Amino acid sequence: MAQKPFPNIPMQDSGNLTASACSTTRISVLLPMPFAGPFDYRAPADMDLQPGDIVVVPLGKRQETGVVWDATSSLPADLAPPVTEKKVDAARLRPVVCRLDLPPLSAELRQFIDWVAAYTLTPPGMVLAMTLRLHMRAAPTPTMGWALAENPDLNALRLTPARQKVLDLLADGNHRTTTDITNATGVSAGVVKELANAGVLRPVSLGPERPFGQPDAHYNPPVLEGEQQSAAVALRQTVTENRFSVTLLEGVTGSGKTEIYLEAIAACLEQGKQALILLPEIALSAQWMERFSRRFGVQPAVWHSEIGQRARRLTWLGAADGSASVIVGARSALFLPFHNLGLIIVDEEHEALFKQEEGVIYNARDMAVVRGQLARFPVVVVSATPSLETLANVEAGRYRHLVLPTRHGGAELPEPRVLDLRDHPPPRGLFLSPELVEDIGATLERQEQVMLFLNRRGYAPLTLCRSCGHRMECPHCTAWLVEHRNRKVLSCHYCDHTEPMPPACPQCGSDHSLTAIGPGIERITEEARQLFPDARLLVMSSDTLGGPAATAEAVAKISRREVDLIIGTQIVAKGWHFPHLTLVGVVDADLGLGGADLRAGERTIQLLHQVAGRAGRASSPGLVILQSYAPEHPVMQALLSGDFDAFMQQEAAQRKPGFWPPYGRLAALIVSADTPVAADEAAAQLGRTAPYGEGIQVLGPAPAPLAVLRGRHRRRLLLRTHRNIAVQPILRRWLGMVNLARNAKVDVDIDPVSFL
Ligand code: ADP
Ligand code: ZN
Ligand code: ZN
Repeated sequence: MAQKPFPNIPMQDSGNLTASACSTTRISVLLPMPFAGPFDYRAPADMDLQPGDIVVVPLGKRQETGVVWDATSSLPADLAPPVTEKKVDAARLRPVVCRLDLPPLSAELRQFIDWVAAYTLTPPGMVLAMTLRLHMRAAPTPTMGWALAENPDLNALRLTPARQKVLDLLADGNHRTTTDITNATGVSAGVVKELANAGVLRPVSLGPERPFGQPDAHYNPPVLEGEQQSAAVALRQTVTENRFSVTLLEGVTGSGKTEIYLEAIAACLEQGKQALILLPEIALSAQWMERFSRRFGVQPAVWHSEIGQRARRLTWLGAADGSASVIVGARSALFLPFHNLGLIIVDEEHEALFKQEEGVIYNARDMAVVRGQLARFPVVVVSATPSLETLANVEAGRYRHLVLPTRHGGAELPEPRVLDLRDHPPPRGLFLSPELVEDIGATLERQEQVMLFLNRRGYAPLTLCRSCGHRMECPHCTAWLVEHRNRKVLSCHYCDHTEPMPPACPQCGSDHSLTAIGPGIERITEEARQLFPDARLLVMSSDTLGGPAATAEAVAKISRREVDLIIGTQIVAKGWHFPHLTLVGVVDADLGLGGADLRAGERTIQLLHQVAGRAGRASSPGLVILQSYAPEHPVMQALLSGDFDAFMQQEAAQRKPGFWPPYGRLAALIVSADTPVAADEAAAQLGRTAPYGEGIQVLGPAPAPLAVLRGRHRRRLLLRTHRNIAVQPILRRWLGMVNLARNAKVDVDIDPVSFL
């Protein structure tokens, strides 16, 4: 094979005599590890390497898998990290070991990886690690098979009947493994071997199994009319335009948003391109998958953390060679090496779950838009309660807007009612108001389903000693221990700490003085069981549903009406369609409104609207009862009036003057150290060197609300700038000025969603 010179790289290093004898091809290789950038290697003369090729290289005494990277950055100036690189002498470059037999990463994906790294201030190798996960970092063990040699010399071979059988079988041109051949012909493996030794059969490597069916865009299209029809037409058009655009598909719960965006996927398939659907919680996938296969005749490929190594590998390869034409997945699916991606749908775009809070801290919704922009394809973001970020983009004309204002099939939105707990308090030690209990009873009597929602796992969020006031706290975190009575333990919801429920107060030693304060869903379940002993109960939380399969089973039970009363955490708020559910009771509508979170109100209204949307999705009307101590709060008022727009306009008016997102930019610095002194010292250093100037402000340092997490002491600073100021160069300069102690660390969170 002729050797092609690597683009933009001089073939010879004139300063080096030994290297000039053979040409030295210097290439960059990015490793999936937290180094500042790619390393240089030498491409052996017989290896024709191109950017994107997946290669094995030496690193110290080990060998690692990496990707041949581009010599020059394509990033815009304000994102590109400064170049400080000192070139390794050509003679000292170590050679690439081999290239793996995997599809190369596209230029578009490499550019995306660089972009995400620069935007989030993360080493590019860590972003690459999301694409090149562990399971893909080894050479695939190809299955070997046999084909007929091109011009075998049959004269030299005695054609026994057994041998003839094999030749006849392979005459159809198909490649087969030894086992396939012996099974089909009944000859022994030895016969195959003899034929191979004689040069009559040639070895071939069989590609991996391709398990993905091809979705058929015309399999079962819905009947669309009116607003659904026009939204579908508009959405299909964004796909056929074949260029970058972002569209917000907004519509009340049950209006048919899913139905409509499946049409965009159909249009994408008709163009012969791949589509990606990002869902916040893969638990949703059971009902979603069924929907998909009803529309397209086959199941899509799935991607999330629990699918297992083999499925991951197949989906990765299916994305890379295009055989998986539709992939539905959690946020990390955004980093799959698509062959020909033509559309991304982000369903429930307002969900905080799209933000990854560890490792590479990124928002998959926003990075989906970036990927669309870099590769020039449309992105559709979908929600009944869009985020203020997205609404601001609509208002600024950056995003298009399609609205489905009514529920499909004449179903009505549930009627919301706020129950003032000051006027209708629950009995002492209980949590359901008599008014709510009455409505639950009436609904069950009508053989309809009821859902009680409380976004709190366990039995009680706080355990207190009645004698001395001692509170049971996590020894490693600034957090109360949550009682899980079913498991008879106290457990921390921020770390792995779990301890048995102590028989006496650890502080004063009083017996039987520890008291559960406040409700979790286990406690609500206990209360409901006493009130409605005949009702068939189902508890839905991450503690009771072990994984997607268990969730699917629970959902199926609800659909089959084998359940009367559902009690759950936010898992029940997802896009489920439960036609027989007509009453939703929100146990504590005020939960989530406290705290210093910028988006507390927005979040609460999104969550409660979503929960409420589970009711009355078929012909019977639904009722939603919100138990609250603050019925006058704007969030309750907005839920009552159903005027989500007005609420978001108020939110916007509150955030604009202070340049809070989306009207300004925000980056959080989270300082952590193993002692409080070290944390304070590092935070103080950052405080002293804080950037300043027109449109730039630094808030803090201040102790984080979670001042201790997993034994690390935490402080926070916030950098807030006007929208036209990029935070990345400021942060790079700032972080470059501080000299942190070995035990201290700073994590950067661009566009923070969590303020803990
Ligand atoms: P959303 O995603 O807005 O909550 P869905 O797409 O889930 O709404 O639609 C709600 C229900 O109505 C689903 O059961 C869906 O199958 C049904 N539906 C919506 N539009 C149509 C249509 N045009 N034809 C038939 N069924 C529809
Ligand atoms: Zn005590
Ligand atoms: Zn803890």
